Amino acid sequence: MTRAFYIGRFQPYHFGHHTIIKQIAEEVDELIVGIGSAQKSHESTDPFTAGERVLMLYNALENLPIRHYVLPIEDIRYNSIWVHHVASRTPNFEVVYSNNPLVIQLFRESGVCVKQSPLYIRERYSGTEIRRRMVSGEKWEHLVPKSVVEVIKEIDGVNRLRNVSASDSNSSL
Ligand code: NAP
Repeated sequence: MTRAFYIGRFQPYHFGHHTIIKQIAEEVDELIVGIGSAQKSHESTDPFTAGERVLMLYNALENLPIRHYVLPIEDIRYNSIWVHHVASRTPNFEVVYSNNPLVIQLFRESGVCVKQSPLYIRERYSGTEIRRRMVSGEKWEHLVPKSVVEVIKEIDGVNRLRNVSASDSNSSL
């Protein structure tokens, strides 16, 4: 049995992440999805709480054909012990899927098998681009699963993002 680990900030969860997760699900028996930077929220680059992101993923992955776990993982100051930090919060896993150079480096140094997972149509599906569209009032709903649209509407997430982005630009004055 192979259990895999995949981590992202998912601010918000979009079809690029969704496509990767569906591909991983064809290769392994179980998947742990880590919600990275779980302590962050209400910032222009990290507007959604860990709980809101858990809900986005939980709903979007309802029909994933393998057993999966969605777990928040806070950042820590020490990169050198981050892999142990992750391991203490997750079931055991044998393989990591990531495209993040730091994540790949840290897991490889710990002897964990890492597979590269570039995002699907990166120029189209990007958290940064989706947040920009939300702030500027452009359409963004087609870039994320329907269940994610519902979560963001339920929490009035677009207005939150606009408000925290406005306070960011005030603080730089
Ligand atoms: P991330 O910080 O969520 O994403 C960084 C950038 O890479 C974003 O623009 C993201 O796009 C993009 N990206 C995400 N997945 C990608 C992929 N498969 N292919 C191409 N681009 C991709 O980084 P992450 O790797 O997704 O998540 C790593 C998490 O681990 C972060 O929360 C990080 O803080 C945490 N971490 C913590 C420590 C520590 O605490 N010491 C150490 C290492 C890592 P989108 O915005 O579209 O997703």
